[in-house]
Amino acid sequence: PAPIHIIGGGMAGSEAAWQAAQAGVPVILHEMRPERGTFAHQTGELAEMVCSNSFRSDDDQQNAVGLLHWEMRAANGLIMRMGDAHQLPAGGALAVDRHGFSQGVTAALEAHPLVAIDRREVPGLPPADWDSVIIATGPLTSDALAQAIRAETGEDSLAFFDAIAPIVHIDSIDLSKAWFQSRYDKGDTEAERTAYLNCPMDKDQYEAFIDAILESDQTGFKDWEADAKYFDGCLPIEVMAARGRETLRHGPMKPRGLTNPHQPEVKAHAVVQLRRDNALGTLYNIVGFQTKMKYGAQADVLRMIPGLEDARFARLGGIHRNTFLNSPRLLDGQLRLRTQPRLRFAGQITGVEGYVESAAMGLVAGRLAAAERLGRPLTPPPATTAMGALLTHISGGADARTFQPMNVNFGLFPPVGDVRGGRKGRQQRYKAYTDRAKADLHGWLQAAPALA
Ligand code: FAD
Repeated sequence: PAPIHIIGGGMAGSEAAWQAAQAGVPVILHEMRPERGTFAHQTGELAEMVCSNSFRSDDDQQNAVGLLHWEMRAANGLIMRMGDAHQLPAGGALAVDRHGFSQGVTAALEAHPLVAIDRREVPGLPPADWDSVIIATGPLTSDALAQAIRAETGEDSLAFFDAIAPIVHIDSIDLSKAWFQSRYDKGDTEAERTAYLNCPMDKDQYEAFIDAILESDQTGFKDWEADAKYFDGCLPIEVMAARGRETLRHGPMKPRGLTNPHQPEVKAHAVVQLRRDNALGTLYNIVGFQTKMKYGAQADVLRMIPGLEDARFARLGGIHRNTFLNSPRLLDGQLRLRTQPRLRFAGQITGVEGYVESAAMGLVAGRLAAAERLGRPLTPPPATTAMGALLTHISGGADARTFQPMNVNFGLFPPVGDVRGGRKGRQQRYKAYTDRAKADLHGWLQAAPALA
């Protein structure tokens, strides 16, 4: 068969190349390093870990990222194989020797008879005669290619940084304090009725909350971030609070149009609103609460919000340099650009977050592209698997209007039992998710024996 072109030899591109080549399809992997670098990469190796050397939890029964490890091992993943080969002792986490790891990935791909590596930047959209392409150029995609993608997909389709508001698991919110209500309309359907959750504050609670934000430990702004244009319309809450103690109460925390059914006679001084974050209704983001508070401080401050005292966060807020697509709008369930299906995307540029998640989307993209090339199209992994849950989220499960990068977590899985009632214990529930995922992943792998 004709080759698949893969642009970017990072976590996702390396895994995609391996999967396609193992399926018998030749690959040309285009990687711009070492000729051209990024501000975070230090070497010319493939699959370089740009920051921490951890693949996070390896627990495949109680943790969604551990489950992702399990699934990628079951699918003969190169990133996990090399992670395991270069493991360092780190308790329940999978930490790796970063140099041994990326040298191992590089050597495996260089030695593969079906992989050719071209060490040059692809400075724009690929030429028309590349009929099957995977773009896996990551959060630091080169400017020339990023601009070309933006021109192809539209102004609002490619972000250059993320401004993430914290995301909370619904089953950890105290609904005896919080209530569902949209500010301006009643809503007819269940989805409309549960679109917003509200947490009320009285004056004392509000003042204490503002103090805590102002005193919190915050990450400094880097040069590129100081560029004010990044922050129009998405100021971090600590910057808003610093502008004046009432700013938040007139901004994201305004109480207007909301009545607390738990205390209808009391007018709230301020209200924190959460908006439904996924179609499943398992995750809610805190509206307008993008922040640079450090993670520990941030969780403490947010748990001061009435109703969120025991909140568990699917992810905390942050603001980073990150190039990513509005995937729910742009990509189909095969990770192809709807308007130009020869172009697939994989890795962090699709709006997943993290080494493991990026590699997982590379694994899926490599298999889907190889199967297509071999004339035996493959259905995507089921939404009950960790890979399928991530894929479903980015290709339509998430709300395109508020789409921000996402780590894998159980809130992305179709619920087992009643997530709000917590009828089963959380441990049992997570075990049920992971058991179901493993069984369903086996089914998916068996459906394409040539690719196993
Ligand atoms: P990458 O691994 O970055 O791979 C993309 C590759 O494409 C790079 O090798 C790049 O050189 C190449 N490339 C770019 N443009 C072109 C082009 N036009 N032509 C050819 N090649 C090109 N995740 C974690 O789990 N833990 C962390 O600690 C962590 N820290 C991070 C720190 C920073 C500063 C950043 C930016 C991200 C961090 N991430 C972290 C998030 C993310 O998981 C990693 O960036 C991950 O490597 C993404 O995988 P990827 O394959 O999508 O992109």
